[in-house]
Amino acid sequence: MTLVRFAPSPTGLIHIGNARTAIINFLFARKNAGQFLLRFDDTDLERSKPEYAAAIAEDLEWLGIHPDQVEKQSARTARYDEAANLLKAEGRLYPCYETPDELDRRRKRQLARGLPPVYDRAALKLTDEERAKFEAEGRKPHWRFRLDQRRVEWNDLVRGPQHIDTASLSDPVLVRGDGSYLYTFTSVVDDIDLGVTHVIRGEDHVVNTAVQIEIFEALRGHVPHFAHHSLLIGADGKGLSKRLGSLSIRSLRDQGLEAMAVVSHTALLGTSESIHPCVSYDELIDGFDLGKLSRAPARFDEAELRHLNARLLHMLPYAAVKDRLRFGDEAFWLAVRGNLELLSDARRWWDVVTGEITPVIVPEDREFVATAARLLPAEPWGETTWAEWTNAVKAATERKGKGLFMPLRLALTGLDHGPELAALLPLIGREKSLKRLEAIAN
Ligand code: GLU
Repeated sequence: MTLVRFAPSPTGLIHIGNARTAIINFLFARKNAGQFLLRFDDTDLERSKPEYAAAIAEDLEWLGIHPDQVEKQSARTARYDEAANLLKAEGRLYPCYETPDELDRRRKRQLARGLPPVYDRAALKLTDEERAKFEAEGRKPHWRFRLDQRRVEWNDLVRGPQHIDTASLSDPVLVRGDGSYLYTFTSVVDDIDLGVTHVIRGEDHVVNTAVQIEIFEALRGHVPHFAHHSLLIGADGKGLSKRLGSLSIRSLRDQGLEAMAVVSHTALLGTSESIHPCVSYDELIDGFDLGKLSRAPARFDEAELRHLNARLLHMLPYAAVKDRLRFGDEAFWLAVRGNLELLSDARRWWDVVTGEITPVIVPEDREFVATAARLLPAEPWGETTWAEWTNAVKAATERKGKGLFMPLRLALTGLDHGPELAALLPLIGREKSLKRLEAIAN
């Protein structure tokens, strides 16, 4: 069975870039009748916070992503110990005693000589006595993974055939001096234990993949498929990192955007499909294909998201908003949805329909509006009332087009723009309409 995972570190809120990874994973799982695992990479005990984990889970729910399984790395230390012991016994993990300062100096020397700053494996050459001496000094080793220094290959489901020569990389530290584990390692142990079949993540992990494939093999795990999508950049072509606060899912939600607008936008961004509003994931699944994701960075423009949000609202059925709207009925929704940018804008039109407005009637329209008031049809009012009424007003006044409609709109709503009056008029009702048309006369 297909199993994908989304593996955020709960050290902050998720932003639009993380959400894109989650959404792509979710769509892939749904498309392949698979499952979606939410895994909290919380081995950094200082920076990881349960509040963030809770907030991330909540934000995913808001996005319509309901994980089939939730795990957290902090609960799996015993498994990491076991796997690390196996690698230690086989000499794939070796102890190193360099201090950060020593490593830094070595790196600088290498750079000064025009060499790549790759770890020189000095610790592999330590004798037992040298190691004992370090231990006696109280130094705690960190542990590096001895890379095979070979060409690692995989067929990336987004990027196509990939190869990385691990001889160009430093042996990665997998265990810190304090015994805690690094993500590069824990992630592989989890992916093996939990049976992850596809690792879909951002292209900032491409190099990790070469290293992790070696770790998968060293642990005799089944190597999953890999897919690395490109990262988001801002409309200005720069990385999003500086604006991530305002681009957190939490903040987009607080701004009143529709979850499905965020989902549609991020799912279609950087694909060969045009960006269009989708009411549900079902609409996205058919066309979803990792192979459609472009390798070029995807440009995220908040203004476009807002525009898409409006387009989505314009087509949303009443059932999709009923619970959140809390006022009005289906007729009201259908009348106003075409004029909304955010769902919360509906309030304004509700007030226009039911509340007190200040009718605008300019002196040269007074007589015209008074005539129109006299011609208001009797109730019951319905879909055709507006046409009947304005035809009668037209015949009586010989006005047409804007000259006919605008004074009526200004008097009935106090505004020069808004939803179709044919739909608004029956909602306002005869009594209120008459009062507004006669506002000057009274
Ligand atoms: N915790 C890692 C990150 O957020 C997960 C990467 C992965 O999917 O393996 O970057």
